[in-house]
Parts: sequence; C-alpha cells; structure tokens
Amino acid sequence: MKTTAPLLLLIEDDPQFRLLLRTTLENQDYRVLTAATGRDGLDEARNQRPNLLILDLGLPDIDGQEVIRRLRIGSEVPIIVLSARDQESDITQALDNGADDYLTKPFGTAELMSRIKALLRRVAKLPGGAQEYFQVGELKIELTKRRVSVGEREVHLTPIEFRLLSVLVRNAGFVVTHRQLLEKVWGASYVEHSHYLRIYMGQLRHKIESDPARPRYLLTEAGVGYRLSEEEIQ
Ligand code: CA
Repeated sequence: MKTTAPLLLLIEDDPQFRLLLRTTLENQDYRVLTAATGRDGLDEARNQRPNLLILDLGLPDIDGQEVIRRLRIGSEVPIIVLSARDQESDITQALDNGADDYLTKPFGTAELMSRIKALLRRVAKLPGGAQEYFQVGELKIELTKRRVSVGEREVHLTPIEFRLLSVLVRNAGFVVTHRQLLEKVWGASYVEHSHYLRIYMGQLRHKIESDPARPRYLLTEAGVGYRLSEEEIQ
C-alpha cells in the first residue's frame, strides 16, 4: 500500500527560488504547497495543515519571526527557517520563537532533504517522543539508567553535565540555542549566563570526544547553539 506523501508548505517570496525549491521537493516525492507572503502562508497553514513548513525569514508583508509566533499559537507543525543573510541573531530569535531548525542560503539539496527527513522522523516518534536510548558512532547514552559510554569506556558525568547532555539527546540532530540550553539546564534566571554553557560544554567534550578541539558528536553552531550529531562526523 502506498502511503500518502508528507505535505510541505513553502513560504518564500522569491519566485525563482520558490519554483526551484518546489521542483526539488516534488522530485523527492513530497507534496508541496507554496505561498509568497506571510499572510497567505498563515492561511495555508491553518487550512491545509501541512506536515512541515519551510519558511523564509525575509518576507514582504509580515516578518518571518511574527509568522512563527502566530503559527505557534495552537500548532506544533515542524518549521525549518531559511535565512538569506547569515545573521545569527535572526536565526537564534527564530529558534527561540519556536522554529525547529534552520538553513542559511545558499544551501545544498542534500542538506535540506536530511533536515526535512530528520524533522518528520522526530514528529513520527511523538507522542512519548522522548528518546531514552541514543547511539551515534561509539557514543552510547541511556537516559533512564543515566549511563554514558564511549566504546568500552564508561563515562562519568556530573549531574549538570548529564542534564546538558540529556537536553541535547532529546533534540538529537537539531540545534538547541544557548538560551534554550541555559533555561533547561540551569533555569530561566540563567539565560544570560552563557559562560556556564561554554565551561560545561568544554568538560563534556573532554569526557566524550577523542579530540575535544575537533568534536564529532557535540557540534557547535557558531553564534546560535549546539547540536548533537545523529550521524558520525568523520
Ligand atoms: Ca525573502
């Protein structure tokens, strides 16, 4: 039996880029809806209930950030934002507003496809989506048993280190912003204390990575946050 292909909504004002992306996505057997403005995009999202949304942040009518905020009222549809300018603050703000992932233009087709697949996979796992067991390369993490190992070596983590790693495991494959990590690990009053994060991430890498200066698992997204890789980086 052929299952229905996921429905994607693409909100992008640049007509050429919209057409290119649409063709690319349709070639991968996705069903694609498009909108050229934030307003139309919001209408389409409400009426058609897509499985995933790809949103350009620079729109002519409503700011992309506002589109995310309005979408997030009553909808958990996964959102990938596209940012034309390599503006870290825009990306960080979009993620903090509730977007799930981002790509900076120009990006490759393969990269977009892997982000879409990862997000759809994560949604399919819900509810009860908290991932209790995680493995990538030699790194194994069992959240309920609080057990972490690299190859044969058991890794001993402090409670804070473990909490930090847990948040990344629950979002494996996705970027988590500095603010989100600080809030989830230390609490809401710590969101400005990014030095905590740097220190603890450094410790975690020393315990987990074979070369902490060139991490394969705990990846830095410059200026935005961290991502636990779902695939082993060679
Ligand atoms: Ca644009």
